[in-house]
Amino acid sequence: MQIYKVGGAVRDRLLGRPVTDIDWVVVGATTEEMLAKGFRPVGADFPVFLHPKSGEEYALARTERKSGRGYGGFTFHASPEVTLEEDLIRRDLTINAMAEDDQQNLTDPYHGQRDLEARLLRHVSPAFAEDPLRVLRVARFAARYAGLGFTVAPETLALMRQLSESGELEALTAERSWKEIARALMEDQPQMFIQVLRECGALKVLMPEVDALFGVPQPEAHHPEIDTGVHTLSVLEQAAQHKQPLTVRWACLLHDLGKGLTPEEEWPRHIAHEQKGLKLIKAVNERFKAPKDCQELALLVGEYHTHGHRALELKPSTLLELLQSFDVYRRPQRFEEFIAACEMDARGRKGLEQRSYPQADYLRGAATTARSVAVQPLLEKGFKGPELGEAIKRERLKALKAYKEKA
Ligand code: ATP
Ligand code: MG
Repeated sequence: MQIYKVGGAVRDRLLGRPVTDIDWVVVGATTEEMLAKGFRPVGADFPVFLHPKSGEEYALARTERKSGRGYGGFTFHASPEVTLEEDLIRRDLTINAMAEDDQQNLTDPYHGQRDLEARLLRHVSPAFAEDPLRVLRVARFAARYAGLGFTVAPETLALMRQLSESGELEALTAERSWKEIARALMEDQPQMFIQVLRECGALKVLMPEVDALFGVPQPEAHHPEIDTGVHTLSVLEQAAQHKQPLTVRWACLLHDLGKGLTPEEEWPRHIAHEQKGLKLIKAVNERFKAPKDCQELALLVGEYHTHGHRALELKPSTLLELLQSFDVYRRPQRFEEFIAACEMDARGRKGLEQRSYPQADYLRGAATTARSVAVQPLLEKGFKGPELGEAIKRERLKALKAYKEKA
């Protein structure tokens, strides 16, 4: 048997990027031979094994044929006769379809190296269209490598458009889509992921609520960029530049969905978009079965981001309600993430990226103030049950009034 490094490890070495996980392909071997060498089989369907020591993935060279809709609709053929070139042609992009032996001799039948130099994300063969997940993968790679100057080849974008229009994207499971979305949002330029999906018509299918934001104007005085879709991309860009976690990036993407529902007569104003957007945020959350912390933060940021921006003007009672809504006493981290999302929203405006955001420290201070109200003295005064709750609230309100006056 011959063993080659393939995929991302080869690509990233040639790009001079750190290689994190290594995928291997094995040519000329049978399942029995792999098992005899101590490899552990991964799934029932795939001829993929884990190395007994390193735990890295070793796949038998295989060919694939489309036999139905969606991801389940694939048949695999793995046997010792399948060549390296036959295995490489089933891969998505030319830059992902190179292999390397232990002497670093490159096998590159589909010109991945040429496309690396040309900074092009280009599909290997028309079979690209057989797996709709590849649309999301290409958009994700665009988000990762945009900084190096990579763009999607026009003919690949055309194929992606064809796939988006064919209805095949709807066959993707929530789990597979979310995995790509989550990884893409954590790349250096997540806004490119959304932009590429939009360019090929996939955004309209996957997240029509986000797609609808493009072409919706906002008041120029607050939003020099005007367009709500452009603003959303900038917010996401800021979130990545400030190394925000996935929860915050997800909330940034969805925070203004309500603006897509504003009747045109009301443009560029968006009265109560925070409330109106909640059902859309919920729909997107559920469509992709986003993790609970992502879902929660997106809804809270959707509902309260304007409160965040107006923090310094809020009445102490409104401030207290905001803190209660976030349960800042038990969930301090979540409130921090809310503040971060608000700040990214403020910075995601054309020309205002560097403007300071004093609301952030003010909100932090308010949370600390409310949290520092001691319960013990109230217990000692004999407060119990609902009255204790009321007494705590009164004390917190008093503390917040003093805090606001000092600020
Ligand atoms: P990453 O750095 O994100 O791990 P990668 O290219 O290594 O990038 P993997 O998902 O680890 O991506 O897959 C390894 C290789 O398998 C890819 O480089 C590609 O050749 C191939 N591959 C993975 N998923 C697909 C797919 N859906 N369609 C076609 N080829 C795929
Ligand atoms: Mg990999």
